[in-house]
Amino acid sequence: MLNLKNVTVTYENEDNPAVKDLNFSVERGEFVCVLGRSGAGKSTFIRTINGLQPLQNGTVTVLGHEISSMHEKKLREIRSRIGMIFQHFHLIPRMSVKQNVFTGRFGQRRALHNFLGIFSEEEKENADYYLKEVGLYEFRDRRVERLSGGQKQRVGIARAMVQNPSILLGDEPVASLDPTTSDHIFYLLRQLHEEKNLLTIINVHDIALAEKYASRIIGLKNGELVFDGRPADMTARD
Ligand code: ADP
Ligand code: ADP
Repeated sequence: MLNLKNVTVTYENEDNPAVKDLNFSVERGEFVCVLGRSGAGKSTFIRTINGLQPLQNGTVTVLGHEISSMHEKKLREIRSRIGMIFQHFHLIPRMSVKQNVFTGRFGQRRALHNFLGIFSEEEKENADYYLKEVGLYEFRDRRVERLSGGQKQRVGIARAMVQNPSILLGDEPVASLDPTTSDHIFYLLRQLHEEKNLLTIINVHDIALAEKYASRIIGLKNGELVFDGRPADMTARD
């Protein structure tokens, strides 16, 4: 489902690579947490998977397609099957919860025209379904800036899910949330993961969350893969 082979990324004007010679292979059904300190290469790793990151070396194969050398049009098609959630949510201000959720499937311009009723019943039902899944159906008409951090991230999750993704990626989705809210978000992610049989890959710096929810943990240090295994296989040394 996802395969990285000898992947190295070096940013312009940097001496050391951000990720170095990464080899990683994973199938649908795994809930992967990526652990590592700030600067370890976690965000870069996530970006290589959705094709946002030019590689210096190596290949990335997603859903049976080698994306590292793919043209933009085809890449967009692959990317539409990958849901993304972010640390700072990336919601569109002044739009409602529901309009933000629609942007996941239709982009900002069409989502804004939701009130004109141009979406099909099936599209609306799909959005309502995920609004209920994340517990925000009653808040669907509220402007997103009036939500709490945890609620904003739940909008982010619903927006990713209306794409009906095969892969869900998270770049530190709970780093700006308190511990209880973070746990709720991970619980929800794990639930959706199982219901939809996703491949889920989430960056997190809280080891306890990774141990509680991941089926597999990878550890990055200075851009190198230093651990890859089940939570139970982690030792204090790791
Ligand atoms: P993490 O997500 O684990 O904090 P990153 O992937 O963001 O790690 O960063 C890995 C390394 O690459 C760091 O040394 C960081 O400073 C560097 N880096 C990240 N993004 C850029 C960029 N756009 N330009 C230059 N260096 C970058
Ligand atoms: P955060 O502050 O939530 O960590 P950043 O602003 O660092 O997020 O953005 C993370 C990366 O995701 C950036 O490279 C950014 O260009 C990219 N990005 C932001 N919004 C989107 C989006 N809607 N779809 C795809 N990529 C995005």
